[in-house]
Amino acid sequence: MESPPLPPDEPQRQAAVTAMGPPDLTPKEHCDRITRLLAKAVDVPTIFFSVIDQDRQIFTSIQGLDICETRREDSFCGHTILQHDIMVVENAATSPLFHDNPLVVGEPYIGFYAGIPIRSPEGYKVGSLCATDNRPRQFTEAIAQSLHDGRGLLESELLLRFQSIRDPLTEAYNRRHFDDILAREWARNQRTGSPLGLIMADIDHFKAYNDEYGHLQGDVCLREIAATLQSEAKRSGDLVFRVGGEEFAILLPNTPENGTAELAERARKAVKALGVNNPEPRSQGIMTLSIGAAAARPAESRPPTPEAFFRSVDDLLYQAKSGGRDRLIMAEESP
Ligand code: GH3
Ligand code: MG
Ligand code: MG
Repeated sequence: MESPPLPPDEPQRQAAVTAMGPPDLTPKEHCDRITRLLAKAVDVPTIFFSVIDQDRQIFTSIQGLDICETRREDSFCGHTILQHDIMVVENAATSPLFHDNPLVVGEPYIGFYAGIPIRSPEGYKVGSLCATDNRPRQFTEAIAQSLHDGRGLLESELLLRFQSIRDPLTEAYNRRHFDDILAREWARNQRTGSPLGLIMADIDHFKAYNDEYGHLQGDVCLREIAATLQSEAKRSGDLVFRVGGEEFAILLPNTPENGTAELAERARKAVKALGVNNPEPRSQGIMTLSIGAAAARPAESRPPTPEAFFRSVDDLLYQAKSGGRDRLIMAEESP
């Protein structure tokens, strides 16, 4: 058996998988509708859409089998994402690549496999749509047609999902997604007992920049600042949102006060280091951020709700504004 090699764009591909979120955040019920329809259209017992994560194959939607994940190194789909079109194995038992694969010699005893790579909206092959049988069988034109049609539907779903949670200008996540994710992370951290970091940052004197250089150049600047925040918040799980015109939030799951303060300060310095000119006479002549940040303890109801947490960090941001801008105000550490 040969484990699938990593594709040359693996880091970017992996980033696209992470950006899709966990399976409960990908549009699972929409994917289920597609795999259910395909299962009826194709005379093959198992149809699934699986995502290839760092070292796992995760079954986002599956019909005809009860399985959640396998190791990536055993997966057929890890090979499929290296192809442009359908990969077919008509008889796995006689395939040099798969005859001794654990999924062939053991559960679910794959005999036949046909899979087509599925691309994320950014163009990375994040997973595949597959038809499998526990017996060998012939690959038919009807299976090929169904996989191509299914790919079109699935990729449209992923694109819709991508657009509905993002701000089109900066491609940071949007305010609606912020509200959803804050509530979800709050509930999760209530269960796990881990802290939740939140950073709110507002560009200083941005109106003056727009007035001087025009709205289009203002947009360029917003994109540049969003990209800078993204590159600072690169730990898996950290998420950057555009929550208002020139206002951003960074949510840091499992992060206590010191880690939150560290990232907030790094973000402040990185934006300043861009050296973007600011024509506002009251500014330092350079584009800066005012930042409020805190780490909540959802398990101890401190603050009592996610909304109260958001408001308290927003208050800290406005303290940073009234304190002179270009600064971070951190919540006092809870006793
Ligand atoms: P402060 O330091 O108090 O935050 O001052 P400010 O000028 O940044 O704040 P103010 O709220 O007065 O102005 C925000 C500006 O952000 C005004 C608006 O034109 C600009 N802005 C908001 N959204 C966009 C956008 O999508 N593109 C551009 N180019 N500008 C935007
Ligand atoms: Mg501002
Ligand atoms: Mg603002």
